[in-house]
Amino acid sequence: MTHHLLLDASSLLYRAFHALPSSIRDEAGRPVGAVRGYLDMVARVRADRRPDVLVHVLDDEERPRARVAAWPGYKAERPAPPPELLEQFALLRELLAAAGERVAYAVGWEADDALAALAAAAAAEDTVEVLTGDRDLLQLVDDGGPVVRVLFTERGVSQLGTYDEAAVAERHGVPPARYADYAALRGDPSDGLPGVRGVGEKTARDLITRFGDLDGVLAGVQALPPRLAERLAHAADDLTAMREVVPVRRDVALTVEDTPADEGALAALAAERRLEGALARFLEARA
Ligand code: MN
Ligand code: MN
Repeated sequence: MTHHLLLDASSLLYRAFHALPSSIRDEAGRPVGAVRGYLDMVARVRADRRPDVLVHVLDDEERPRARVAAWPGYKAERPAPPPELLEQFALLRELLAAAGERVAYAVGWEADDALAALAAAAAAEDTVEVLTGDRDLLQLVDDGGPVVRVLFTERGVSQLGTYDEAAVAERHGVPPARYADYAALRGDPSDGLPGVRGVGEKTARDLITRFGDLDGVLAGVQALPPRLAERLAHAADDLTAMREVVPVRRDVALTVEDTPADEGALAALAAERRLEGALARFLEARA
Protein backbone atom coordinates (compact mmCIF):
# COMPACT_ATOMS: atom_id res chain seq x y z
CA MET A 1 0.00 0.00 0.00
CA THR A 2 1.96 2.96 -1.31
CA HIS A 3 1.04 6.63 -1.21
CA HIS A 4 2.32 8.34 -4.38
CA LEU A 5 2.53 12.10 -4.75
CA LEU A 6 2.91 13.00 -8.43
CA LEU A 7 3.84 16.60 -9.16
CA ASP A 8 2.92 18.22 -12.46
CA ALA A 9 6.22 20.08 -12.39
CA SER A 10 5.62 21.81 -15.73
CA SER A 11 2.28 23.23 -14.66
CA LEU A 12 3.48 24.11 -11.16
CA LEU A 13 6.67 25.88 -12.25
CA TYR A 14 4.62 27.87 -14.73
CA ARG A 15 2.17 28.82 -11.96
CA ALA A 16 4.98 29.76 -9.61
CA PHE A 17 6.58 31.87 -12.34
CA HIS A 18 3.44 33.95 -12.63
CA ALA A 19 2.67 34.03 -8.89
CA LEU A 20 6.06 35.25 -7.68
CA PRO A 21 7.78 38.56 -8.39
CA SER A 22 10.44 38.52 -11.10
CA SER A 23 12.60 40.60 -8.76
CA ILE A 24 13.69 37.41 -6.94
CA ARG A 25 17.14 36.89 -8.45
CA ASP A 26 20.48 35.32 -7.73
CA GLU A 27 23.81 37.12 -7.24
CA ALA A 28 24.30 37.36 -10.99
CA GLY A 29 20.85 38.89 -11.48
CA ARG A 30 19.26 35.77 -12.96
CA PRO A 31 15.60 35.18 -11.98
CA VAL A 32 15.04 32.29 -9.58
CA GLY A 33 11.61 33.12 -8.13
CA ALA A 34 9.74 30.33 -9.91
CA VAL A 35 12.19 27.68 -8.67
CA ARG A 36 12.03 29.10 -5.16
CA GLY A 37 8.23 29.05 -5.30
CA TYR A 38 8.26 25.49 -6.60
CA LEU A 39 10.60 24.24 -3.88
CA ASP A 40 8.49 25.90 -1.18
CA MET A 41 5.23 24.57 -2.58
CA VAL A 42 6.59 21.03 -2.80
CA ALA A 43 8.03 21.29 0.72
CA ARG A 44 4.65 22.35 2.12
CA VAL A 45 2.68 19.66 0.32
CA ARG A 46 5.23 16.95 1.07
CA ALA A 47 5.22 17.84 4.78
CA ASP A 48 1.43 17.86 4.76
CA ARG A 49 0.81 14.66 2.73
CA ARG A 50 3.82 12.55 3.79
CA PRO A 51 3.93 10.43 0.60
CA ASP A 52 5.99 7.22 0.33
CA VAL A 53 6.97 8.10 -3.23
CA LEU A 54 7.24 11.53 -4.82
CA VAL A 55 7.84 12.12 -8.53
CA HIS A 56 8.44 15.39 -10.38
CA VAL A 57 6.76 14.97 -13.77
CA LEU A 58 7.65 17.14 -16.76
CA ASP A 59 6.37 17.93 -20.22
CA ASP A 60 8.66 16.43 -22.82
CA GLU A 61 6.60 17.86 -25.69
CA GLU A 62 3.94 20.53 -25.09
CA ARG A 63 2.30 19.85 -28.45
CA PRO A 64 2.41 16.08 -29.01
CA ARG A 65 2.36 15.11 -32.67
CA ALA A 66 -0.83 13.05 -32.40
CA ARG A 67 -2.75 15.94 -30.84
CA VAL A 68 -1.51 18.45 -33.40
CA ALA A 69 -2.29 16.03 -36.26
CA ALA A 70 -5.88 15.76 -35.03
CA TRP A 71 -6.20 19.48 -34.28
CA PRO A 72 -3.54 21.81 -35.76
CA GLY A 73 -4.71 24.65 -33.53
CA TYR A 74 -3.77 22.72 -30.38
CA LYS A 75 -1.83 25.21 -28.23
CA ALA A 76 -0.87 26.93 -31.49
CA GLU A 77 -1.66 30.45 -30.26
CA ARG A 78 0.24 30.17 -27.02
CA PRO A 79 3.05 32.66 -26.75
CA ALA A 80 6.48 31.06 -26.48
CA PRO A 81 7.56 30.80 -22.85
CA PRO A 82 9.82 33.70 -21.82
CA PRO A 83 13.54 32.91 -21.55
CA GLU A 84 13.38 33.64 -17.80
CA LEU A 85 11.01 30.68 -17.44
CA LEU A 86 12.95 28.34 -19.73
CA GLU A 87 16.13 29.06 -17.79
CA GLN A 88 14.35 28.14 -14.58
CA PHE A 89 13.18 24.83 -16.06
CA ALA A 90 16.84 24.05 -16.71
CA LEU A 91 17.78 25.16 -13.20
CA LEU A 92 15.01 23.07 -11.66
CA ARG A 93 16.19 19.96 -13.56
CA GLU A 94 19.72 20.55 -12.37
CA LEU A 95 18.64 21.03 -8.75
CA LEU A 96 16.36 18.00 -8.69
CA ALA A 97 19.10 15.80 -10.12
CA ALA A 98 21.64 17.05 -7.56
CA ALA A 99 19.07 16.50 -4.79
CA GLY A 100 18.51 12.90 -5.91
CA GLU A 101 14.83 13.52 -6.59
CA ARG A 102 12.87 11.25 -8.94
CA VAL A 103 11.97 12.90 -12.26
CA ALA A 104 9.73 11.36 -14.93
CA TYR A 105 8.46 12.23 -18.39
CA ALA A 106 7.19 10.53 -21.53
CA VAL A 107 9.21 11.22 -24.68
CA GLY A 108 7.01 13.04 -27.19
CA TRP A 109 4.20 13.66 -24.70
CA GLU A 110 2.96 16.12 -22.13
CA ALA A 111 3.28 15.86 -18.38
CA ASP A 112 -0.48 15.18 -18.44
CA ASP A 113 0.12 11.86 -20.21
CA ALA A 114 3.13 10.88 -18.11
CA LEU A 115 1.04 11.56 -14.97
CA ALA A 116 -1.78 9.42 -16.37
CA ALA A 117 0.63 6.57 -17.12
CA LEU A 118 2.18 6.79 -13.64
CA ALA A 119 -1.26 6.76 -12.00
CA ALA A 120 -2.28 3.79 -14.17
CA ALA A 121 0.85 1.91 -13.05
CA ALA A 122 -0.07 2.18 -9.35
CA ALA A 123 -1.29 -0.93 -7.55
CA ALA A 124 -5.01 -1.27 -6.83
CA GLU A 125 -4.51 -0.77 -3.09
CA ASP A 126 -2.32 2.34 -3.56
CA THR A 127 -3.26 5.99 -3.18
CA VAL A 128 -2.15 8.47 -5.82
CA GLU A 129 -2.27 12.24 -5.39
CA VAL A 130 -1.59 14.47 -8.40
CA LEU A 131 -0.62 18.07 -7.66
CA THR A 132 -1.34 20.28 -10.67
CA GLY A 133 -2.77 23.53 -11.96
CA ASP A 134 -3.98 21.84 -15.16
CA ARG A 135 -7.66 20.91 -15.01
CA ASP A 136 -7.18 18.27 -17.73
CA LEU A 137 -5.88 16.04 -14.97
CA LEU A 138 -9.34 15.88 -13.34
CA GLN A 139 -9.86 13.02 -15.81
CA LEU A 140 -7.65 10.87 -13.58
CA VAL A 141 -9.73 11.18 -10.42
CA ASP A 142 -10.92 7.80 -9.16
CA ASP A 143 -12.36 6.79 -5.78
CA GLY A 144 -10.87 3.33 -5.85
CA GLY A 145 -8.51 0.75 -7.30
CA PRO A 146 -6.18 2.77 -6.93
CA VAL A 147 -7.58 5.89 -5.29
CA VAL A 148 -6.53 8.87 -7.41
CA ARG A 149 -7.10 12.41 -6.14
CA VAL A 150 -6.13 15.72 -7.70
CA LEU A 151 -4.73 18.51 -5.55
CA PHE A 152 -5.46 21.58 -7.63
CA THR A 153 -3.80 24.98 -7.31
CA GLU A 154 -7.01 27.00 -7.21
CA ARG A 155 -5.34 30.38 -6.95
CA GLY A 156 -1.66 31.23 -7.10
CA VAL A 157 0.20 28.33 -5.59
CA SER A 158 -0.82 28.36 -1.94
CA GLN A 159 -4.51 27.49 -2.06
CA LEU A 160 -5.12 23.83 -2.92
CA GLY A 161 -8.45 22.19 -3.69
CA THR A 162 -8.74 18.42 -3.20
CA TYR A 163 -10.73 16.62 -5.87
CA ASP A 164 -12.25 13.20 -5.41
CA GLU A 165 -15.11 11.98 -7.62
CA ALA A 166 -17.73 13.88 -5.63
CA ALA A 167 -15.74 17.12 -5.81
CA VAL A 168 -15.30 16.84 -9.59
CA ALA A 169 -19.02 16.21 -9.97
CA GLU A 170 -19.85 19.11 -7.68
CA ARG A 171 -17.54 21.56 -9.45
CA HIS A 172 -18.13 20.48 -13.05
CA GLY A 173 -21.39 18.54 -12.92
CA VAL A 174 -19.91 15.43 -14.55
CA PRO A 175 -17.97 12.45 -13.19
CA PRO A 176 -14.21 12.30 -13.92
CA ALA A 177 -14.73 9.54 -16.51
CA ARG A 178 -16.89 11.97 -18.54
CA TYR A 179 -14.71 15.02 -17.96
CA ALA A 180 -12.98 14.69 -21.38
CA ASP A 181 -16.33 14.54 -23.20
CA TYR A 182 -17.53 17.57 -21.26
CA ALA A 183 -14.29 19.47 -21.99
CA ALA A 184 -14.59 18.62 -25.71
CA LEU A 185 -18.06 20.22 -25.80
CA ARG A 186 -17.09 23.19 -23.64
CA GLY A 187 -13.76 23.82 -25.33
CA ASP A 188 -10.62 25.24 -23.77
CA PRO A 189 -9.47 28.52 -25.28
CA SER A 190 -6.13 28.41 -23.45
CA ASP A 191 -5.31 25.18 -25.34
CA GLY A 192 -6.77 26.45 -28.63
CA LEU A 193 -9.80 24.15 -28.42
CA PRO A 194 -12.99 25.88 -29.58
CA GLY A 195 -15.67 23.52 -28.28
CA VAL A 196 -19.15 23.95 -29.74
CA ARG A 197 -20.29 27.47 -30.53
CA GLY A 198 -22.74 28.68 -27.89
CA VAL A 199 -22.02 25.74 -25.58
CA GLY A 200 -20.44 26.78 -22.29
CA GLU A 201 -19.90 24.90 -19.06
CA LYS A 202 -23.58 24.74 -18.17
CA THR A 203 -24.87 23.43 -21.50
CA ALA A 204 -21.96 20.96 -21.80
CA ARG A 205 -22.78 19.62 -18.34
CA ASP A 206 -26.50 19.41 -19.10
CA LEU A 207 -25.85 17.55 -22.35
CA ILE A 208 -23.55 14.98 -20.73
CA THR A 209 -26.00 14.53 -17.86
CA ARG A 210 -28.91 13.98 -20.24
CA PHE A 211 -27.20 11.74 -22.82
CA GLY A 212 -24.48 10.08 -20.75
CA ASP A 213 -21.48 10.76 -22.97
CA LEU A 214 -20.35 12.44 -26.17
CA ASP A 215 -21.57 9.56 -28.38
CA GLY A 216 -24.95 9.86 -26.73
CA VAL A 217 -25.06 13.60 -27.31
CA LEU A 218 -24.21 13.21 -31.00
CA ALA A 219 -26.77 10.42 -31.41
CA GLY A 220 -29.40 12.50 -29.64
CA VAL A 221 -29.12 15.83 -31.45
CA GLN A 222 -32.52 15.54 -33.11
CA ALA A 223 -34.17 15.62 -29.68
CA LEU A 224 -32.64 19.03 -28.96
CA PRO A 225 -33.81 22.54 -29.76
CA PRO A 226 -33.05 23.19 -33.46
CA ARG A 227 -30.42 25.88 -32.89
CA LEU A 228 -28.40 23.73 -30.50
CA ALA A 229 -28.88 20.64 -32.69
CA GLU A 230 -27.58 22.57 -35.67
CA ARG A 231 -24.52 23.80 -33.79
CA LEU A 232 -23.71 20.30 -32.57
CA ALA A 233 -24.16 18.82 -36.03
CA HIS A 234 -21.95 21.55 -37.42
CA ALA A 235 -19.25 20.74 -34.84
CA ALA A 236 -19.42 16.94 -35.25
CA ASP A 237 -16.06 16.68 -37.07
CA ASP A 238 -14.36 18.95 -34.54
CA LEU A 239 -15.75 16.83 -31.73
CA THR A 240 -14.38 13.69 -33.38
CA ALA A 241 -10.96 15.36 -33.50
CA MET A 242 -11.30 16.26 -29.80
CA ARG A 243 -11.36 12.56 -28.92
CA GLU A 244 -7.71 12.43 -30.03
CA VAL A 245 -6.81 15.67 -28.29
CA VAL A 246 -8.54 16.00 -24.93
CA PRO A 247 -8.25 12.57 -23.26
CA VAL A 248 -5.01 12.01 -21.37
CA ARG A 249 -3.02 9.01 -22.64
CA ARG A 250 -2.34 6.32 -20.10
CA ASP A 251 -0.35 4.14 -22.51
CA VAL A 252 2.73 6.29 -23.08
CA ALA A 253 6.24 4.99 -22.40
CA LEU A 254 7.73 6.52 -19.27
CA THR A 255 11.27 7.62 -18.67
CA VAL A 256 12.10 7.71 -14.96
CA GLU A 257 15.33 9.33 -13.80
CA ASP A 258 16.69 8.43 -10.38
CA THR A 259 19.94 10.33 -10.11
CA PRO A 260 22.03 9.70 -6.99
CA ALA A 261 22.17 12.82 -4.80
CA ASP A 262 25.32 14.93 -4.97
CA GLU A 263 25.36 16.99 -1.79
CA GLY A 264 28.40 19.04 -2.76
CA ALA A 265 26.98 20.02 -6.14
CA LEU A 266 23.60 20.73 -4.56
CA ALA A 267 25.03 23.06 -1.90
CA ALA A 268 27.16 24.88 -4.46
CA LEU A 269 24.25 25.32 -6.83
CA ALA A 270 21.94 26.55 -4.06
CA ALA A 271 24.52 29.09 -2.92
CA GLU A 272 25.21 30.31 -6.44
CA ARG A 273 21.50 30.70 -7.18
CA ARG A 274 20.53 32.10 -3.76
CA LEU A 275 18.24 29.19 -3.02
CA GLU A 276 19.74 28.05 0.28
CA GLY A 277 16.66 28.89 2.36
CA ALA A 278 14.19 27.22 0.00
CA LEU A 279 16.46 24.21 -0.40
CA ALA A 280 16.82 23.83 3.38
CA ARG A 281 13.01 23.85 3.75
CA PHE A 282 12.71 21.40 0.87
CA LEU A 283 15.21 18.96 2.39
CA GLU A 284 13.66 19.28 5.83
CA ALA A 285 10.26 18.31 4.46
CA ARG A 286 11.84 15.26 2.82
CA ALA A 287 13.53 14.06 6.01
MN1 MN B 1 -0.19 20.05 -18.77
MN1 MN C 1 -3.22 19.91 -20.28
